[in-house]
Amino acid sequence: MATVYVIDPLDRLMPYTIERDAAHAAGAEFVLGDANAPHMRDADVILTYLVPFDAATIAGLRRCRGIIRCGVGYDSVDLAAATAAGIVVCNAPTYCVPDVADHAASLILASARRIAWFDGAVRRGAWQAAHDAERGMRRIAAQTIGIIGLGRIGRGVAQRLAPFGCRVLGHDPYLSDDQVRAMGVTPLPLADVLRQSDVVSLHVPLTPATYHLIDANRLALMNPDATLVNTSRGPLVDTAALVAALDAGRIFGAALDVLEDEPPGIAHPLYAFDSRRVLLTPHAAASSREAQHDLHHELAASIDALVRGQRPAAIVNHAVIARNTPAR
Ligand code: NAD
Repeated sequence: MATVYVIDPLDRLMPYTIERDAAHAAGAEFVLGDANAPHMRDADVILTYLVPFDAATIAGLRRCRGIIRCGVGYDSVDLAAATAAGIVVCNAPTYCVPDVADHAASLILASARRIAWFDGAVRRGAWQAAHDAERGMRRIAAQTIGIIGLGRIGRGVAQRLAPFGCRVLGHDPYLSDDQVRAMGVTPLPLADVLRQSDVVSLHVPLTPATYHLIDANRLALMNPDATLVNTSRGPLVDTAALVAALDAGRIFGAALDVLEDEPPGIAHPLYAFDSRRVLLTPHAAASSREAQHDLHHELAASIDALVRGQRPAAIVNHAVIARNTPAR
């Protein structure tokens, strides 16, 4: 009998009833694990949330036909090694798209309107001082928003901001200019988006090519009033360069749901900036009750396909000639 093994069960998905039912219906047993590699070695399908699958870990899998990453990003799985081993890699591509787009748009609006800083000042009894001190805000409709990566989430952010009257620029080397224009977004090279935007919002996957996509040189292209928003992956941004740019006033602010080091230490250098300039949320952009419901069903669909030897819709390594998995 095939085994579906959850290597690092998530509290918020417990007791995995929908995934368990899918495994049983397809004829597999369903095991909640404890990140214990010996059990994992003989699993047919593995679900992982945080446990990384590097080439050495993948080489130790004896029967695996599918690794399912329980989220959108799959940078924790060595795709080349999995593909070479004939292992299908899936993600959960759509479950939280509206939530992350909502969160990015909320960070953009909350930063522009200094919401967190005003709230803190009112609670400290500084109502009048805060009212009088904040002179630098800009009307949202007057701002230019630059979106880097116009996939599911990036285009969702563009849709959310368009009704505010913002000018929306975008950069995505894998889309044609016509595809970008059809989203109501003006396509431009990356450097021009960085130069012209008041807000730059990142929506690209983390890959070797996008690691530190925003480094000191790219930060230097941004305007001194600009805010950088990152709801994608922390390592897209060189944190030391970001702190230096904020410190020197080369950019105004940052609003970040993701950091290079998660969770951050108690003395993270970004804490030096007040909440007018730096807004932080704890990798929570994907969270909502609705997203949780949809995540169960996306995972169950991949379990069903993999156990039955079919090609799952959420496959990310399309080149794989999977063991026990016929090509479409
Ligand atoms: P997607 O695959 O639909 O879109 C990614 C887009 O990025 C694609 O259109 C691709 O062409 C583009 N792209 C790739 N490399 C690029 C580059 N160098 N420059 C510009 N564009 C580039 O993915 P998505 O659903 O929009 O998700 C985007 C990312 O958001 C995910 O990879 C994930 O890391 C992150 N994410 C974070 C959370 C969270 O909780 N904070 C939740 C879900 C997703």
